[in-house]
Amino acid sequence: MPLLPSDSVKQVAIVGGTHGNEWTGIYLVKKFEQFPHLIQRSTVNSLPLLANPRAILMNRRYIDRDLNRCFAAEDLTNPDLTGYENQRAKAISTQLLSEQSPPIDLIIDLHSTTANMGLSILVSGEHPFNLKLSAYLSQMYPAVRVCRGIQWGEVSPTLRSLVPLGFAIEVGAIAQGMLDAALFQQTEQLIYTILDYLEAWNQNARPTIPEQLTLFQAITAVDYPRDATGELQAMIHPDLQFQDYQPLRLGDPMFLTFSGETITYNGSATVFPIFINEAAYYEKGIAMILTEKQQIPID
Ligand SMILES: [Zn+2]
Repeated sequence: MPLLPSDSVKQVAIVGGTHGNEWTGIYLVKKFEQFPHLIQRSTVNSLPLLANPRAILMNRRYIDRDLNRCFAAEDLTNPDLTGYENQRAKAISTQLLSEQSPPIDLIIDLHSTTANMGLSILVSGEHPFNLKLSAYLSQMYPAVRVCRGIQWGEVSPTLRSLVPLGFAIEVGAIAQGMLDAALFQQTEQLIYTILDYLEAWNQNARPTIPEQLTLFQAITAVDYPRDATGELQAMIHPDLQFQDYQPLRLGDPMFLTFSGETITYNGSATVFPIFINEAAYYEKGIAMILTEKQQIPID
């Protein structure tokens, strides 16, 4: 486990449009490009970046493949991967880590979701600084929830995984290709609070943080019921729709078949589903992600 950054966190990338139809982050980054002073602090230099320009123009999640799955180290050095998003991943990696001088310390990757996730922080990796900052944000904004392990497995080939410090911000529920002013402003405020925290950190005015953090740790993904050809056999049950972060207990409704039959949760442990009915996850075979609600100490 790496140590806490002993000195300062000075270079921040604020990324929007990793998915080209998630407008909250795209329009925030466009705003920051137009008014750069909003994201500068005396000790923090912020770089606004639109990650997937062609997908943004087309108002699509991606052109060839999901950009947020293209950042595995072996893929970034694989010359045979020539799809648009693979090229973008290589260019972004070079820009943030080599061309940018000094290189980026922390990445804030802005996303939106059709699930009712409110303001969610998806922390990358295990770095204690990320948990400290997340604990601070959830103290400042009780509506903020913190999740970890959303891309499980050994490698997490997300854009934010390029550096140890940082996270994705997911806001919703918002349909793809549209804006919600209230969620736009809440996300904007969260970014300013992060930059102010980094400024205070750099000036050794370490803000007080709570001793514990409520963390929603991903356990597994659940797909929709499908037939042998992959055809959907059921929908999210109306009782579960928009119930992200609420407890799901043995016997609670999960899915409703097209003939009207309810399929219930049959696990013995109470879980907390998130990303329920995320539109972009149908193709990934994910109806929701089950999490465990944990209290973890912050030192
Ligand atoms: Zn996204």
